[in-house]
Amino acid sequence: MKTNTIHYDYCPLCHGAELAPHLTATDHLVSGLRFDIVRCRACGFLFTQDAPTPDAIGPFYESVDYQPHNNRCSFTSFLYHSVRSVMFRWKYSLIRRHHKQRGTLIDVGAGSGHFVAYMRQQGWQVVGCEQSERARAEAWQRDGLRLDGDVMSVDYPQACADVITAWHAVEHIHDLHGLWERFGRWLKHDGLLVVAVPNCDSFDAKHYESDWAAWDAPRHLWHFNEATIKMLGQCHGFKLRSINSLPLDACYIAMLTEHNKVKGLAKGLRFALSGAVQPQQASSLVFLFQKDMIG
Ligand SMILES: [Zn+2]
Repeated sequence: MKTNTIHYDYCPLCHGAELAPHLTATDHLVSGLRFDIVRCRACGFLFTQDAPTPDAIGPFYESVDYQPHNNRCSFTSFLYHSVRSVMFRWKYSLIRRHHKQRGTLIDVGAGSGHFVAYMRQQGWQVVGCEQSERARAEAWQRDGLRLDGDVMSVDYPQACADVITAWHAVEHIHDLHGLWERFGRWLKHDGLLVVAVPNCDSFDAKHYESDWAAWDAPRHLWHFNEATIKMLGQCHGFKLRSINSLPLDACYIAMLTEHNKVKGLAKGLRFALSGAVQPQQASSLVFLFQKDMIG
């Protein structure tokens, strides 16, 4: 698979010029290609070097195994779908803890719109955007949901949203800073930004090293930890308000990483327990940001 790629000579987060190799991750899902994950010596940010350009990355999502947009029946897929409704309730209660009234929500990277549909049922005004045409078509056919397209092409009104959610979406968007500029523009002055990403400082990332499924290169362009996402938020006037772990993601990622799914589930449960004790090292983290009204 030959494709156009982006090579960074500087850190996309802080523009630091000193980059160091971190590890090499293989795309087991689609291409079999290997991608270098690079670390900025100044700020510690990790990113995928020589990832395909936005125009060229489409084929790297063409896999029946790519979970967010498929309904294939397998043990892992069954687990993914059966815990989803539990997670929707958990996400809803997290949002309501920090935003008491119902309001307007934008879901970025909405997939096939299950969370958008769930939040509508709870009485919220919800819009969602999703790059994948297939996922948008599924949302329309299943629930009559009309999702918007690519987040960098849609144009929502300024200060229209009480809450913006991006569940495992930020790491897929090429325009790292442009996306957060949009978050800042669309959110009301006291609005809440909810961003969930894999945690490259997690127990499972350290255990599996280059085999960790959540490197997911080249689909995951950016690899965050608490410090780097906090820094990105600060660049765009956001203040970090709370950090929560997504414990079930540890099981899902371990099962994707391990060939033996039972072994993966057992290890995943262990990582989930460790992450519950030390949330900063959980497999995936949910960051709640608020616009920094002082800055
Ligand atoms: Zn940097």
